[in-house]
Amino acid sequence: MEKKEIFTQIEAMEEQMGTMYADLSRLKTIVVELLEENQRLQMENERLLRLIREDQYPEPTMEPDAEPAKPEGLSLTREGYENLARLYHEGFHICNVYYGHLRTEGDCLFCMSFLNK
Ligand SMILES: [Zn+2]
Repeated sequence: MEKKEIFTQIEAMEEQMGTMYADLSRLKTIVVELLEENQRLQMENERLLRLIREDQYPEPTMEPDAEPAKPEGLSLTREGYENLARLYHEGFHICNVYYGHLRTEGDCLFCMSFLNK
């Protein structure tokens, strides 16, 4: 293979890699957006399901409840906390700085301080 031919090939590969890199980072942005949207829709879906269930079974005694009776406020707070902890462990921010956004860089100090409260 001639030197000139080799350089032409290398330049062609460089260009292809540049295009691929641009495509890859565009795809990464799209995936992050989709994951965030998916999370929002899941939360909205859960909220709506809860509303439908409350609408169908307005009496609290008719709701299946595995946990022992507790003061209402306390159990709601705990449920809320557990939902947020689950959200965090699924890879999303729960802090008021980046709430609902995907954690792309590991643990977040704002979220951690919230979880440790
Ligand atoms: Zn955070």
